[in-house]
Amino acid sequence: MVDVIIIGAGPAGLNAALVLGRSRKSTIIFDDDRPRNAVTQESHGFITRDGTSPKEFRQLGRQELKQYPTITIKNEHIQSVQKMDNVFHVTSVTGVTYRSKKVILATGLKDVLPSVPKIQEYYGRSLFVCPFCDGWELRDQPLAIISEEPSSTHMVQMLFNWSRDLALFTNGRPLKPELKEEMQRKGIPFYEQIISELKGIHGQLEAVILPDGTAVKRSGGFIGVQQKQASDFAQQLGCQMNEMGAIQTDDFGRTTISGLFACGDTSYIAPSQLIIAAADGSKAAIGIVADMLVESDS
Ligand SMILES: Cc1cc2nc3c(=O)[nH]c(=O)nc-3n(C[C@H](O)[C@H](O)[C@H](O)COP(=O)(O)OP(=O)(O)OC[C@H]3O[C@@H](n4cnc5c(N)ncnc54)[C@H](O)[C@@H]3O)c2cc1C
Repeated sequence: MVDVIIIGAGPAGLNAALVLGRSRKSTIIFDDDRPRNAVTQESHGFITRDGTSPKEFRQLGRQELKQYPTITIKNEHIQSVQKMDNVFHVTSVTGVTYRSKKVILATGLKDVLPSVPKIQEYYGRSLFVCPFCDGWELRDQPLAIISEEPSSTHMVQMLFNWSRDLALFTNGRPLKPELKEEMQRKGIPFYEQIISELKGIHGQLEAVILPDGTAVKRSGGFIGVQQKQASDFAQQLGCQMNEMGAIQTDDFGRTTISGLFACGDTSYIAPSQLIIAAADGSKAAIGIVADMLVESDS
């Protein structure tokens, strides 16, 4: 049996592993290589790593972990997590069950994109989800905001910081009268029709096409996505979730199930940033070390 099993080797899981390994805790970290930011070419906003690709970021993290004999990295999908007699049983897709005293869920989120034909081709190339991540690269450009979510007007307000040339596409969802007024006041055109297609080359957006053939020229933009948990281990184990759909934790990643920790996007949903996820992983690791010290004393 090992001290800790971490599921997910994004920034949250990797940083948790680093702190645990350096704290002399035997740690296995599992990952099935499906991070939500894999579609992008560059990540931004992480000091010393600004502009690094998500793939390189993760490789650098794994490289650093390899110097610690306390840490084992396994490229395996985890299928189930069970807790029996205070021991966690973590079963991988290979059929092998690993046992640990503690588990950290660092499984992240999945994004559900608006139902627009071929939007996947543009996602991560010229259409993004977070202005703090990619707003700088699109500054002052004619941007589309494609959002079926009622929160789209919040996104419009936010994006005003990066470009004043915005157009809102609700893809068939009617805007409330007060929101229409706000858009008119700000001089932002809005289109409530379903989007027929996106026009562009190699993922570089050129125009949004409406059913009557109107082509609204745009060179990029942001989309409102629905975020879902990437795994349902927390629900399976009976963890309390919050109103945002995140796993409820305290400041050190403790969930409502003793010995089960969660960190990164999975436990706060927003703001989702690499550096915040990494810091959250560090805090969960510190929480585990602290708890194990208390437990070994009692
Ligand atoms: C398109 C896009 C662009 C972004 N750009 C930026 C940016 O530029 N800067 C920035 O700071 N943030 C950016 N973000 C946000 C950032 O990607 C997240 O905040 C961050 O990745 C969260 O880290 P995490 O470790 O919590 O989860 P993730 O990075 O999503 O890692 C979770 C890991 O768990 C693994 N996993 C899940 N379930 C299982 C399982 N059952 N078995 C094994 N492994 C499993 C997944 O494969 C994945 O590797 C972006 C997000 C998106 C969607």
